[in-house]
Amino acid sequence: MGTPSDHAPLAERVEELLAAGGPLAIVAAGDPVLRRPAEPYDGQLDPALFARFVEALRVTMRAAPGVGLAAPQVGVELRIAVIEDPAPVPEEVRLARGRVPQPFRVLVNPSCEPAGDARAAFFEGCLSVPGYQAVVARAARVRLTARDEHGRALDEVFTGWPARIVQHETDHLDGVLYLDRAEPRSLSSNQAAAERWAQPTPEAAARALGFPLP
Ligand code: ZN
Repeated sequence: MGTPSDHAPLAERVEELLAAGGPLAIVAAGDPVLRRPAEPYDGQLDPALFARFVEALRVTMRAAPGVGLAAPQVGVELRIAVIEDPAPVPEEVRLARGRVPQPFRVLVNPSCEPAGDARAAFFEGCLSVPGYQAVVARAARVRLTARDEHGRALDEVFTGWPARIVQHETDHLDGVLYLDRAEPRSLSSNQAAAERWAQPTPEAAARALGFPLP
């Protein structure tokens, strides 16, 4: 909303961010930008700048590497996120977690709501909370509404790991971090998670660390 002059500072900041080229710096937990609801995107960036910004999000997500990245994670308070998951995991993990490949997608002004009561709990991590993972129970199915990068309406049901990714990224746009929803006793360093909790499901972790599963 507002006049073009209201939008100038944001567009200028994005221009500055993109000027260096290459992956953008990812903001870490503790920065208030990760705790404020982002503004709905309604053309604050002109089409060429928007396209360059989305490309920078893609490059940054791939370089990290991660399976999703929300604009506030690079310090831009707009409701824009990208997701992509090549899902290079063993078959048993793919089956247990529903971690199927997810092509590159741009989500503009996404919103998601649970589709059914089923919950799924798995370890997840966040590029803005480096070094740790924790178990989060989330809706197993969600209905996502959004716009794509061309302004076309999206209305889709996501299941499995892609459902987790879209919930995680939509949370970022609301100022929510996955830790807010995690089982605190599941918190594990990446090293501990890799050495001890690489099983397809977190049941052994739940028993050993003492946290509930749905
Ligand atoms: Zn995250």
